[in-house]
Formats: sequence, C-alpha cells, structure tokens
Amino acid sequence: MGSENSNVLDVKEMQEFSQKFVKDRDWDQYQTPKNVAMGVAIEASELMEIFQWLTDQQSYDIKNDPEKKEQIADEMGDILHYIIRLSTLLDIDLKEAFWQKIRKTEAKYPVDLVKGKKDKYTAYVQ
Ligand SMILES: [Mg+2]
Repeated sequence: MGSENSNVLDVKEMQEFSQKFVKDRDWDQYQTPKNVAMGVAIEASELMEIFQWLTDQQSYDIKNDPEKKEQIADEMGDILHYIIRLSTLLDIDLKEAFWQKIRKTEAKYPVDLVKGKKDKYTAYVQ
C-alpha cells in the first residue's frame, strides 16, 4: 500500500491519491486555488479550536487524551491535504518550498542574535 505504512512522507504519492480522490467526486470544479487556500486557514482554525481556552500545561497534557489526540491528528491531516492540493494546483514543489523558506528564516534569525528571544526579525534589524 505504498508509503502509507512507511515513515517516509511521499508527497508525490499523496498528490496523486488526492488528485484521484477529488476527480472521482467531481470536486475539481470547487477546488480552485482560492478555495483550497481558504481551506488551509479554515482547517487551521478547527485545529486551534481544540486548544482554545486550555492552559499551556493542558495543551501539553492533551497528548494523553486519545480522543483529543485523534481530533488533532484529523485536523492536521486536513491541513496537510489542502497544502498538498494547493501544491498540485499551482505546481509548487513542496520539498523545495520547505527548504527554501526555512533557509530564508534561518538567515533572518541568526542563532547568535536571537537565541532565547522571541521578537520578530524586524526588531533585530539595525
Ligand atoms: Mg477539519
């Protein structure tokens, strides 16, 4: 069953499965880049709703609640699915996007300048 049972995130396989999943249901007509991008934010809100009103400690302890943990995993799966869809629709290489962006962030936040600090990078610009 492909990489579903392995520890490797096979983006290509996920894109292909998702493409077929959408086509089989004739949902292409609804899944425009705009709507899919909105889906990312909507699903992120559903994820945040699970944590709303919890204390910091409760947000750590939630990993010991199997039902809540499954809800969190479901929302993370929804978010990832929309990201996968958007990458397919706009022909964006997700692996490249991840590494390119984290390298930019790394440059904006040099360890020797920001270690232990939480300010936005603009606070460090001189
Ligand atoms: Mg959801």
